[in-house]
Amino acid sequence: MSRVVVALGANLGDRGSTLRAAAEAVAALPGVRPVASSHEVESVAVTLDGPDDAKPRYRNAVVIVDTDLEPQAFLDALHGIEDAHGRTRDVRWGDRTLDLDVVAVDDLRIDTATLTVPHPRAAERAFVLAPWLDADPAAVLPGAGPVADLLAALGDDTERVDEPRLLAEPTRASAPERNVTSA
Ligand code: AMP
Repeated sequence: MSRVVVALGANLGDRGSTLRAAAEAVAALPGVRPVASSHEVESVAVTLDGPDDAKPRYRNAVVIVDTDLEPQAFLDALHGIEDAHGRTRDVRWGDRTLDLDVVAVDDLRIDTATLTVPHPRAAERAFVLAPWLDADPAAVLPGAGPVADLLAALGDDTERVDEPRLLAEPTRASAPERNVTSA
């Protein structure tokens, strides 16, 4: 069983609905048990040329799950969920209805052609760190340090969206173990 941190992002369509549906789809994957989820945050779109105010703003969130799936199988399942939400993979860093990234898997280091863990840009993205910290106040990015410290050093340019957490239950990674079903 591994604990996986998933970052969700969307900047097209009904972003909040997409993130909530995607979070529920991740939590409902076979061999996956939800542990915690964040509120949504909003931030300016970042392209290869830097922040772009002319582009639709991003909504981001984090979901933490426990899973029996191997990391690559888990990522493949995330791609299935992206595809179900109309994601087309054409423009790198382009607008997208849904982007799902594996941020961390326990404290593993993975570096294959298709999967790099921890996610190489997580430490420089407030839109990953802020919701991760929200979902798990004790979060640590393997090899980089406590997420709270990384976010403080980086500066938090995200805005909390006034909506409930993505998943109703459970709410916090630090909560005591409970028997949670997705029913
Ligand atoms: P993206 O445009 O962010 O969706 O990039 C997706 C590509 O990045 C896929 O082809 C993945 O195989 C690759 N990739 C490498 N590491 C990761 C990761 N930690 N999470 C998600 N995708 C990854």
